[in-house]
Amino acid sequence: MKVFLDNAATTPIDAEVVKSMTHVLENVYGNPSSTHSLGRKARACIETARKEVAALLHTAPSTIFFTSGGTEADNTAIRCGIDCYNLKHAITSATEHHAVLYPLQAMEKEGKIKLSYVNICEDGHVDLDHLRELLATNERSFVSLMHANNEIGSLMDLKKAGEICKGHNAIFHSDTVQTMGHYVMDLEDLNIDFLTCSAHKLHGPKGVGFLYINPNITINPFIYGGSQERNQRGGTENIYGIVGLAKSLSLAYEHMEEHHNHIQGLKTRMIEKLKMAIPGVGFNGDINPEKSLYTVLNVCLPQSDMGEMLLFNLDIAGICASGGSACSSGTDIGSHVLKALGDASKRPNVRFSFSRLNTIEEVDYTVEKLAALFPVNA
Ligand code: PLP
Repeated sequence: MKVFLDNAATTPIDAEVVKSMTHVLENVYGNPSSTHSLGRKARACIETARKEVAALLHTAPSTIFFTSGGTEADNTAIRCGIDCYNLKHAITSATEHHAVLYPLQAMEKEGKIKLSYVNICEDGHVDLDHLRELLATNERSFVSLMHANNEIGSLMDLKKAGEICKGHNAIFHSDTVQTMGHYVMDLEDLNIDFLTCSAHKLHGPKGVGFLYINPNITINPFIYGGSQERNQRGGTENIYGIVGLAKSLSLAYEHMEEHHNHIQGLKTRMIEKLKMAIPGVGFNGDINPEKSLYTVLNVCLPQSDMGEMLLFNLDIAGICASGGSACSSGTDIGSHVLKALGDASKRPNVRFSFSRLNTIEEVDYTVEKLAALFPVNA
């Protein structure tokens, strides 16, 4: 049996998405910047995709900029948002994805900014009172806080965070890579300057994503070159990727509630079954469905010397999962997210992440195999 429970890393591409991309690969080879008919045909594919994405998010097509994925979108927002507004202070959290942490830390090293970290509560949530305090006691800030954490699933109240940032005239970027297509995002209702998407997290292709830029914000390009993306990102567009992205987001929105219920059902079942099968099992981050990304479950297992053999043993059983085991062979290679949460990282941890393609049988099989690795009387 092969069980793919690593959907926060990537998701299998949807057959309809493949179909939409294959059509472009086979039929649309013009350069979208060419003015002749084949170029115009390629341009039309991109602009139709942009309109589709924008309509789903309740924003104007001119606010959507296609990129090579989440990492580029995050780097663009951070580097260019800070530079173009000449900001000297940025706020983030220790649990952000490296696509956010590393560019911010690089800018700090370059002497461009002072970087402050907002406190993380024990359950993995951002302390929004501390955010208020940091904003009130520093000059105008750039704030980068993710909507949902990719390792532990903690879900931030995006609307509330946006309002706090607006109240302090801060520029607010949120990495929404794990939540795009999983929750309705109404950009008319959110005070947000930048948000990001990566298509391969929602059954789309790898190597394509987008950056939303609030119409009130003006930045210079991150990648200089041709005049693509309205002079905002040089480079011939990944036409089939962009078409695939729009298709995957449309499908995600079309069936969102049904997928949400199915996946939350799997997660709840796994929580309950694990509690029964493995005494002492715990969960990193908040598992309250209201405050936790329904696709992610980070399991904290009883103390054991299994270390990184845990993922290996699951793999042997055909189960694909991921995680940061705290200490292995004396070298600390643990997850920076679990470390930020404190003691939990000293126990073996595994992240299971679900998609709409997973089944109850897969959950039961995984619990059975995991429980066999942690026998009650061991
Ligand atoms: N941000 C988060 C939260 C992610 O989970 C990922 C992917 O792992 C990224 C950014 C990077 O996205 P991409 O793989 O498209 O560069």
